Amino acid sequence: MAVIDEILAGYEALRPAQEAFYQDLHRHPELSHQEHRTAQRVTDQLRSDGFAVVSGIGGTGVVGVLANGSGPGVLLRCELDALPLREASGAPYASTDTATDASGHQVPVDHACGHDLHMAAMVGMAKLMADHRDRWNGTLITLFQPAEETGEGAQEMVDDGLFKRIPVPDVALAQHLLSGIAGTVRTRSGPFMAAADSIKITVYGRGGHGAAPQNTVDPVVLAAMIIIRLQTIVSREVTPGEVAVVTVGSCQAGTRSNVIADFAVLELNVRSYSSVTRQRMLDAIQRIVRAECQASGSPKDPEFETTFSFPVTDNDATVTGRVAKAFAAHFGDRADEIPRQTVSEDFSKIPDAAGVPYCYWGIGYTDRGTYLAAQKDGHLDDLTANHSPKFLPPMQPCLRTGTEALLAAALAWLAP
Ligand SMILES: [Zn+2]
Ligand SMILES: [Zn+2]
Repeated sequence: MAVIDEILAGYEALRPAQEAFYQDLHRHPELSHQEHRTAQRVTDQLRSDGFAVVSGIGGTGVVGVLANGSGPGVLLRCELDALPLREASGAPYASTDTATDASGHQVPVDHACGHDLHMAAMVGMAKLMADHRDRWNGTLITLFQPAEETGEGAQEMVDDGLFKRIPVPDVALAQHLLSGIAGTVRTRSGPFMAAADSIKITVYGRGGHGAAPQNTVDPVVLAAMIIIRLQTIVSREVTPGEVAVVTVGSCQAGTRSNVIADFAVLELNVRSYSSVTRQRMLDAIQRIVRAECQASGSPKDPEFETTFSFPVTDNDATVTGRVAKAFAAHFGDRADEIPRQTVSEDFSKIPDAAGVPYCYWGIGYTDRGTYLAAQKDGHLDDLTANHSPKFLPPMQPCLRTGTEALLAAALAWLAP
């Protein structure tokens, strides 16, 4: 009998408590940087399973370490935070909680990205591993990261001395509910998720009366020229076939028709799968904006502010090969390869800071029949997805699949 099957023999006994834990987290989601209750729940659970727990890393971050003899160190990561949405899933355990966001507004809160399920799967895996210490060797590290949705939490944990406070692992692993059939696990080697940068750019003109443009520098015309010219980055500067996106999602200037404004604000989103392409696009944006300001006779240098930045998630080939083999052995035809995703994650900042390789994978959340029908009609993008107020993964089989995937991957190192 495979070690994972011996360990999973204890799953049914664990299941009611795991489901209750998940529903409790789902009922009480917390915004990024405010995950105090969630962190406490996780801490209590890990302590009762015999993990050494370090809490308060990078704000509310929690790490549980179970040292179990000599052997490799495996770090598994999940996220603590939820989103400012009003849940419309219709679940009996739907959230009605509200919170005060960073700008002082009262907002509803919803676990609409599935981080609650990731945590419950992690805690379930942790308990099963703690209950079967005689079946594996090494160090199991469970990491609960704050503020994934804002792209800040991983870096904040690293900056707070993460790897001085916990052992440096040999490998790092993470999973996420992603588009796919519930009960399936999918990964891929190489670039998995895009790097994403959001940049706010302020360009300056000289305001005046709309009837006397000769006395002004019109920031609306300047912004328009910049927007058009930015379209040449992907079409003329990036290697054909490389995935690259430059979107101007917002452009604001002026207040009324007969007044020329003093400035314009552009908000850009930039995505790519390679650090070379990413840097090339960021450099091109700077160059184009500065040159267009000069061409317009702008009286003041433009200002650039990065509002968020996610690195590319680039799965290590060797580690991913080992994980995929473990998935194939355990899940059979429920394990598969996943296409590249254009969404983004900050997970990789943790293994990158430790200098260790990593693998990330997706667990599906859509009912098989619904998914296959949508796929046949070419309407996969219409299915309810992460960040929708209606998002709600079916608790089962997702919880069990998430638990099994963490176990299978961790045991590929801890009980090979
Ligand atoms: Zn999310
Ligand atoms: Zn997420």
